[in-house]
Amino acid sequence: MTGEAALREWTIEALARLRREAARSADTHLLRLEFPGFPGIGFYFKDEAAHPTGSLKHRLARSLYLYAICNGRLRPGQPVVDASSGSTAISEAWFARLLGLRFTAVMPACTAPRKIADVEALGGRCDLVDDPSQVYERAAWHAAQGACHLDQFGLAERATDWRGNNNIAESIIGQLAGEPQPEPAWVVCGAGTGGTSATIGRYLRYRGLHTRLCVADPAGSAFAAGWRARDRGAVARAPTVIEGIGRARVEPGFVFEVVDEVVEVPDAASIAAMRLLEEQIGRRYGGSSGTNLVACLQLAARMRDAGGTGSIVSLLCDPGERYDRTLYDPQWLARAGIDPAPAEAALRRTLASGAWHALA
Ligand SMILES: *Cc1c(COP(=O)(O)O)cnc(C)c1O
Repeated sequence: MTGEAALREWTIEALARLRREAARSADTHLLRLEFPGFPGIGFYFKDEAAHPTGSLKHRLARSLYLYAICNGRLRPGQPVVDASSGSTAISEAWFARLLGLRFTAVMPACTAPRKIADVEALGGRCDLVDDPSQVYERAAWHAAQGACHLDQFGLAERATDWRGNNNIAESIIGQLAGEPQPEPAWVVCGAGTGGTSATIGRYLRYRGLHTRLCVADPAGSAFAAGWRARDRGAVARAPTVIEGIGRARVEPGFVFEVVDEVVEVPDAASIAAMRLLEEQIGRRYGGSSGTNLVACLQLAARMRDAGGTGSIVSLLCDPGERYDRTLYDPQWLARAGIDPAPAEAALRRTLASGAWHALA
């Protein structure tokens, strides 16, 4: 067989493996929650932790491999690399194993240890850099050595089929079809690559819905400042301990135009809300899921003040076990100087009364 013929055969087999994986997987649950302070407002949370690799990055990793393969950028035996704060690396390592490829994740050294262990358990290598802003350059270096760069930050927004193919937005809107308020007032999500918000925002317009899109991001984030000033050069004013979101720069995949609102959430409030989710659902989720809940409650309080009813949809992004030794460890929190107790008290008052209580 010639090289080109062998490449075509490998491409066909790789796509078949990805298709079989999709066929074996089920859609994720859309959980409904009710809070006493918000009669008439339905809260829905899409449980993206239920994917085989534990986060919403399962969808993205599948799309990035498909995009690389169908563009002829990924060849048999070629190593694969990407920059990641962890969740994407876990999903990409899992698909690399499925396809029989070697995978290297370039991650900040401060990434939760559990995520690093998960990548390694899947046969991936971790190349840790001390300064989180170095991950892009380091991944580009691996690509220059011959690796295929999946490039989540550069390609997330275009690798996903935003019109359909059961993307996250199509799945949510389909699952809501029989609910009392099937056209949500708001969808709330975080932004890391910006891929999820771009897909949801585009799909809402495409379907002609009135639903608005809110991005929940850590206080002082680059996305919040950038979105407000329509400035792609904005940078974060403060670091965050919430992984997956709160990027230091405005990533190329973050589409300003499809976002209707950005709510900034202090880290302590995200962590407090993450604990409240555990109480409500009986399972642990990561910090960015808590960030989403805080923004949902802020929007719900505004709806209630205006006498409105409706539904609000958000995402549970990844499982809490990944943060056993960080966000869920009281000693780690104390060392980081974070006390979620005041924010937790404020959020509990909001849940009970429906009135927004400012976060400490
Ligand atoms: C990636 C990620 C997000 C944000 O999603 P994007 O589609 O990359 O914008 C939120 N939470 C977690 C845990 C993530 O890993």
